[in-house]
Amino acid sequence: MTSNEIRQQFLDFFKGKDHRIVPSAPVVPHGDPTLLFTNAGMNQFKDVFLGTGSRDYKRAADTQKCIRVSGKHNDLEEVGYDTYHHTFFEMLGNWSFGDYYKKEAIAWAWELLTEVWNLPKERLWATVYRTDDEAFNFWKKETDINPNHILRFDEKDNFWEMGETGPCGPCSEIHINLSDDLEAAHLVNAGSPLCIEIWNLVFIQYNRDENGQLHELPAKHVDTGMGFERICAVLQNKKSNYDTDVFTPIINAIEKLSKRNYNNQLLPNDNSIDGKNNVSMRVIADHIRTLTFAIGDGATPGNEGRGYVLRRLLRRASRYGRKLDLKEPFLYKLVDVVVKNFSHVFPEIKTNQSQIEKIIKAEEESFNATLDRGIELFDSLTKKLNAKNEKVISGEDVFKLYDTYGFPVDLTAVMARENGFTIDENRFNELMNEQKDRARKSTKEKIGKVAASISNLDDFNLINNSPTIFTGYDELTTK
Ligand code: ATP
Ligand code: MG
Ligand code: MG
Ligand code: MG
Repeated sequence: MTSNEIRQQFLDFFKGKDHRIVPSAPVVPHGDPTLLFTNAGMNQFKDVFLGTGSRDYKRAADTQKCIRVSGKHNDLEEVGYDTYHHTFFEMLGNWSFGDYYKKEAIAWAWELLTEVWNLPKERLWATVYRTDDEAFNFWKKETDINPNHILRFDEKDNFWEMGETGPCGPCSEIHINLSDDLEAAHLVNAGSPLCIEIWNLVFIQYNRDENGQLHELPAKHVDTGMGFERICAVLQNKKSNYDTDVFTPIINAIEKLSKRNYNNQLLPNDNSIDGKNNVSMRVIADHIRTLTFAIGDGATPGNEGRGYVLRRLLRRASRYGRKLDLKEPFLYKLVDVVVKNFSHVFPEIKTNQSQIEKIIKAEEESFNATLDRGIELFDSLTKKLNAKNEKVISGEDVFKLYDTYGFPVDLTAVMARENGFTIDENRFNELMNEQKDRARKSTKEKIGKVAASISNLDDFNLINNSPTIFTGYDELTTK
């Protein structure tokens, strides 16, 4: 079964249960200041859950473009090193707005997985929130799951929240155990590639306010999310999402550009040269999707907030390209394969293709100007440290890499980790704060000078209320 067929079967299944099939919302959430990027299918329905908005349908289903690189849901550190977390992924979802609830959500999820897709029941596990007897009993009564495969977990795994505030509630998840031990309960929610979470059924019944208090919502809703790339791996019998047809065309394009092979027989943590090349290819394949979709929806790389997240991703991908000896800008050349494979579902990337390519190419060119010299500096630093048998890169050096060579701190941290080093992040943060103070001061001085030359008081107030200072790093460390 191809990934396109899988996506369509999901939508058709819920269409058959009277759901309206709706388009994905943009992955850049214009209009929600609590979010840098859309991180779940439910984001576009937040107003419906809160009772402040409504739709002319009570059931919906879609595939939603999601990015998880900031805030409550941030999977960046996993990407490349595991087989099933991406910074960009599609989330298949079905919703009930005050209509059906736990019973149908559970029964239908089971029906799709075991009757339409014929997944082996003995490999499936369900989890419920520790006090949710209702969900527990529906699993027992409405499905023929092995009752020993229904487990209870606490808030960390079975109480879902989109962010610090907003709609939330207890959830029930479905995991697939791919290990040889069919009764390996200890693998569920343990971060094992052999037992993967595929679908989350959230029972939205609260709103969390700024003080952390939960308030009952006017109605109860269902909000589900299934990882599209993960279910493709399961249905296509692959060990890794990167071996499914969602990723292979992109991996193939990277193989061609780099004249290296992706070796899908290796474990994700294989430390051989081939293993390291695999990591680079996975990161690049992942990040080019994120960049293409985010820029396609109107975000641009920059120095602050969302823009800096994209810049960091792009610089990481460029650096992984260097590890494959890709010296000239190359990322922009991969946009085309992303467009070819996904624009029938998300046409906006085709409409904006040339703009996306232009922006990525310009960013690559600008980082290329300092990338090699930064790598040289990094190598000479680690050589010196090795000679002294030291393992920590000083805050001063991390700051120099950031300030002079444009290395985002998380990139330096990745490079350090690869070479068995850590970085002094506290000292780096101090230096960042000192730099920000200097920037603030000089802005104030500039404003003072401008103010002195402006006789119109209204103009002065306008300027004085909105000093422009660098806030990019704040955004990153506080999220
Ligand atoms: P995990 O525990 O694996 O990190 P999660 O509990 O954070 O997943 P949810 O917030 O419940 O994920 O999202 C719903 C579904 O989206 C998950 O069951 C999973 O299939 C999929 N998913 C979540 N994060 C990612 C990701 N980074 N890449 C690919 N799929 C993901
Ligand atoms: Mg997660
Ligand atoms: Mg989870
Ligand atoms: Mg989950």
